[in-house]
Amino acid sequence: MANADQESWSRVKERLRADVGDDVYSSWFARMDLEGHDDKTVRLSVPTRFLKSWIQSHYAERVLACWQAHDDNIARIELTVRSAVLRSAVSVKPRETAPVTNGQAEPGRFNGHMRAALPADAAGHEALGGSPLDPRLSFDTFVVGRSNTLAQAAAKQVAIAKRTDPVMFNPLYIHAGVGLGKTHLLQAITWAGNAAGERKVLYLTAEKFMYGFVSALRTQTALAFKESLRGIGVLVIDDLQFLQGKSTQAEFCHTLNALIDAGRQVVIASDRPPSDLESLDDRVRSRLAGGLVVEMGGLGEELRFEILKARVMAARAHHPTFDVPVPVLSYIAKTVTHNGRDLEGALNRLLAHSKLTGHAVTLEMAEREVRDLIRPQEPKRVKIEDIQRVVARQYNVSRSDLLSSRRTANVVRPRQVAMYLAKTLTLRSLPEIGRRFGGRDHTTVLHAVRKIEGLVGNDVSLAEEIEILKRQLQE
Ligand code: ADP
Ligand code: MG
Repeated sequence: MANADQESWSRVKERLRADVGDDVYSSWFARMDLEGHDDKTVRLSVPTRFLKSWIQSHYAERVLACWQAHDDNIARIELTVRSAVLRSAVSVKPRETAPVTNGQAEPGRFNGHMRAALPADAAGHEALGGSPLDPRLSFDTFVVGRSNTLAQAAAKQVAIAKRTDPVMFNPLYIHAGVGLGKTHLLQAITWAGNAAGERKVLYLTAEKFMYGFVSALRTQTALAFKESLRGIGVLVIDDLQFLQGKSTQAEFCHTLNALIDAGRQVVIASDRPPSDLESLDDRVRSRLAGGLVVEMGGLGEELRFEILKARVMAARAHHPTFDVPVPVLSYIAKTVTHNGRDLEGALNRLLAHSKLTGHAVTLEMAEREVRDLIRPQEPKRVKIEDIQRVVARQYNVSRSDLLSSRRTANVVRPRQVAMYLAKTLTLRSLPEIGRRFGGRDHTTVLHAVRKIEGLVGNDVSLAEEIEILKRQLQE
């Protein structure tokens, strides 16, 4: 290609970098190459299908605008995926910044290895150590209802997909509150996937991931760790919210990119959506959000009833005399809240009680046994954005006022109220809340919380206002 072309391309790239910022640029555009252009059309290439579709859906106009700023004849950008051969032909060029620099092998190289699809290194796998699986957590025992239909269908799709099938959504990201079946579904994928024998499925808790990686680093076998990842068709990571530490996160990002670019499936569960994973890098977050994100809601009463029924049936395999009359099941389904673990706990108590005393299960006994599992309606998960929106509306200020540094009284009080609600209605830490309120310090948040706590004791109308806000948010 003519030197002049490459020079134009460099200039366009600089403009693009300035436009989107270094982070976004190095994540998505660092490996974009100019293939050529004619009067009106510029042809660009990227190494993976994922990059192509991501850039097309998120940045196509930006890229075009950058070209047009340079040459206003350009009317169209054509983006293609370059083949491996093409890639090696042009790879004499020095590589630009890799997305993550952590002293690790560069991601591009890692990808190349993965594409070779070597068989799993058994010893490496052992070293990697999947987390233990519970044989009861299978698709067969997973009861489908309104709140989890989509998640279950997506999980099943992943589990039965053939090695040669195109990956439909990657990563599959499932989020839900505690006890709503995330681990159950992830382990079901692992069991079913491995039983089908098409693709090796590895299930790891975020802790295992951290431990595996950190210990691998410590014993200087990071390479072996990576090697062992090569044999994996589906990587399943549970409880992503627990992923801590900069270097672990960098490695996670690395692994994620490498697996996805190589067409391997990644499945993730977390207690919050990607946008709320506050400690994660923007790039990782956007990548996580780029697949299929599915939320599982609370288990409705009907679903709770079905789960209980299935559980009793399962228990009877070992305890043939165990029987729970339908009215008792209905009672538990109605009163025990939507957490699957409490349902299990309730049944275990009935089972233990009837085993130990030899008495049949009655409604009376159930009422006594599960009393402490009955909780008032569990509060809905509230998002900080919702709090800001509702509070802003209530006090007739804008959301950006709440996040701004303005200190006029008509903004200060609503802001304090919003921070107070964020602390009381969400599980977010003070520093997290501070960040979400325009990057304030955690001590500012603490001050606001104390201030409002102090005021509601004496100020009835404020207390009422706050009650109303709470109700609006939890409805
Ligand atoms: P999470 O990982 O989301 O905290 P778990 O997957 O550990 O929740 O589920 C908690 C308990 O509830 C487990 O015993 C699980 O089997 C049960 N459970 C949750 N959802 C379902 C469901 N749809 N069908 C059957 N059991 C369920
Ligand atoms: Mg879990």
